[in-house]
Amino acid sequence: MTLVERGHRLLDFRHLRTRLTVLYLGLFGLALIISAMAVVTAVSASAKGVVREEMRASGAVYDQLWKARSAQLSQGAGVLAQDYGFREAVATNDEATVRSALDNLRARQGVDGALILDTDGYATTTGLALSDDTLDTLYRSLDSGRIESGVLNIDGQPYQMVAAPVMAPVLIGWVVFAERLDAAQMRMLEGLSAIPLSASVIVAAGSQTGQSQPTTVPTPDGPSMLVVRPLPSLDDQAGAALRLTYPISKAMQPYSALFIWLAVIGVAGLAIMTIGTWALSRGLTRPIAALDDAVHRLQQGEYAQAPVTSVDEIGRLATSFNAMVTDLRDREIRLTQMALQDQETGLPNRVALEERARNMPEAWVILFGIERFTVVRNAIGYDSMALLLTALAERLSRLATGSPVSLIGAGALGVVVEATSQSQAVKLATRMVEAAQTPIKVGRAKVDIALTAGVAAHDGGNTEVSVVDRAAIAVDQARAGRQPAAAFDASAYGDPGDNLSLISDLMAAMKSGGVSLAYQPKYDLRSQAITGVEALMRWTHPRRGFVSPDLFIGMAEETGHIRPLTEWAIRRAIEDHRTMVDAGHDLMVSVNISGRLLSDDAFADFALGEVKASGARLCFEITETAVIDHPEVALRIVERFAEAGIPVSLDDYGSGLSSLAYLKQIRADELKIDKAFILGLEESARDVLLVKSTIDLAHSLGLKVTAEGVETASTLALLSGMGCDLAQGYFIARPMPMTGLLEFLAAPVASEAEVAA
Ligand code: C2E
Ligand code: CA
Ligand code: CA
Repeated sequence: MTLVERGHRLLDFRHLRTRLTVLYLGLFGLALIISAMAVVTAVSASAKGVVREEMRASGAVYDQLWKARSAQLSQGAGVLAQDYGFREAVATNDEATVRSALDNLRARQGVDGALILDTDGYATTTGLALSDDTLDTLYRSLDSGRIESGVLNIDGQPYQMVAAPVMAPVLIGWVVFAERLDAAQMRMLEGLSAIPLSASVIVAAGSQTGQSQPTTVPTPDGPSMLVVRPLPSLDDQAGAALRLTYPISKAMQPYSALFIWLAVIGVAGLAIMTIGTWALSRGLTRPIAALDDAVHRLQQGEYAQAPVTSVDEIGRLATSFNAMVTDLRDREIRLTQMALQDQETGLPNRVALEERARNMPEAWVILFGIERFTVVRNAIGYDSMALLLTALAERLSRLATGSPVSLIGAGALGVVVEATSQSQAVKLATRMVEAAQTPIKVGRAKVDIALTAGVAAHDGGNTEVSVVDRAAIAVDQARAGRQPAAAFDASAYGDPGDNLSLISDLMAAMKSGGVSLAYQPKYDLRSQAITGVEALMRWTHPRRGFVSPDLFIGMAEETGHIRPLTEWAIRRAIEDHRTMVDAGHDLMVSVNISGRLLSDDAFADFALGEVKASGARLCFEITETAVIDHPEVALRIVERFAEAGIPVSLDDYGSGLSSLAYLKQIRADELKIDKAFILGLEESARDVLLVKSTIDLAHSLGLKVTAEGVETASTLALLSGMGCDLAQGYFIARPMPMTGLLEFLAAPVASEAEVAA
């Protein structure tokens, strides 16, 4: 920082310190000036008073001197004027005698000049030369008898003149003594005074009023004190006066040292005051500045604490500020916690999980889907579900070396683990799924929980689909593959970027014949014959090849394209039914109807209209893939189907959201047990129990039961023993195109023979 910049900073009036300093300095300076003025005024007034007194006294002394000298001269002149010889010499005009007598006396008296003036105006002079004019003036004054002594100017030089009449016995003339009022005389007078004043005698034309009161007048030496004392004048045309002057600066001279000291003390005081106020205001403002700085830093998002340096108001303010900042930080921490936590269970949430995944080196996300989550929750209630989730999360966390388990959504938990390979991650996930099978105690009840895990690698956020989404897809992939855990399979899922244009491609394919229906036979276990088929949609993408209906149907549902797709399927199924009838096989054709369409009356009108008009034997399989938005509307539409004589089948029972309550309400004809339960029937005693009880329950409600996913003969035998009505699965036949179906139906012996065996 340069000196100039420093100066600017010091004089920056936005600083309290500067303002305080300047204010104090200003006030102090003002006080200093006022007191200096008072001192100067008082000192000069008293000095002037002293001078005035002194001058008055000097004037009075001069008066005395004047009178004494006049008396002395007048006495000398009187002595001469009365001298007989002299009078005679004057009367006889004996000039030599007169002059000698005058000289004699002049010398004796120490007078500058002397003269004898007779009544004719004739004068005999010694020691001075008088012009006729001057002589005239003198004569006029003396002759008037008005005055005997006074000042008279001779050749521009004032003289003190004293006259004495010469009587013989009448007045014949005057003896006049003249004394020069010269510089020496004046110095003598000045010497008499206590103060060094200057004196002069002036003779000026006009009347002389005099100025015995001292006044101040301007002079070449600066303002001076002036006293004028009138003196008698022997010139009737001009007045005379004694003029005393004294420059005020001289009067003040003795005080100059005092004034200098006063100034020095003032400047020193000002300097001390500057330093003092600066230090004081700095001391005062530093805590404020620190507080100000802390507030600034708080604004920048820093949790700044202000130093508490005193116990005064500022100290208390800093303490309060710090308390406020601490509060603020605590609140923010709590908010952050809230943002990263599920409120009900206190488990970390998805955001927390993603954050953890980002910060771990070889991070894998394992997501756990809780099977039949809604069924369990409806059975135990929300509060117990929260407890169950917390307990489950704790158990899973232990296996994941303490890594916290997050609640990702309804029925999904997630955890971040470290693994060097995919197989290691999947193995860990499988172990965790197995661990979850041990019943969990919630209060006094024990709850069975089944999990399916999906595993995905955290790839640094490079892919469009987040790691959690990929793990969630992997859960579905694991479910589809009947595995406890599976890693995300991108090839099975397809490129998410491609999926964006998938629906428009599908709609185009539907119009151009790229979409078709495959038929999978349904075997009646009692009549031991194929009595129906399920229509399953097939689409071969020109570039991607076979696309799983699970993918495109799901997307069509989400994007609102399921209705045209289903309408197309109904029309095609009616056409194909005609073909089957024509070939001699009047089979029931089951068409899959998404639960989403059950809130669409226009769709229901269409479907009913088409079926009625064609008279085809169609069954509607309702897949409850998503939560049905308007259950009352859905129930009414199902009612309409039933009234129109269209059988309704409830698809995927056990895996979806359907519950017992729903079963009782809906007017269905058939229940399809999800293949998830059938596929594991041979290994799992639990599934046997579940399937058996479901069959019994359905029968008690008057529903027929179809088991799908029958892949083995023993499964078929088991189902037959349980009283299942219909079976569907690869063991009987895979879904096949229309031509294949007709061939299959023409020669069903092999399959039936196997079944019989
Ligand atoms: P879904 O209604 O449960 O259909 C049965 C699925 O099980 C079919 O899968 C079928 O190929 C498969 N499957 C049949 N037997 C076996 C077996 O023995 N073992 C195994 N592992 N699987 C068997 P697909 O064809 O992939 O269809 C998947 C889902 O797509 C269907 O499940 C259905 O929900 C939906 N879907 C298919 N076509 C349509 C349609 O036209 N409309 C609607 N809304 N959904 C459809
Ligand atoms: Ca189905
Ligand atoms: Ca099904």
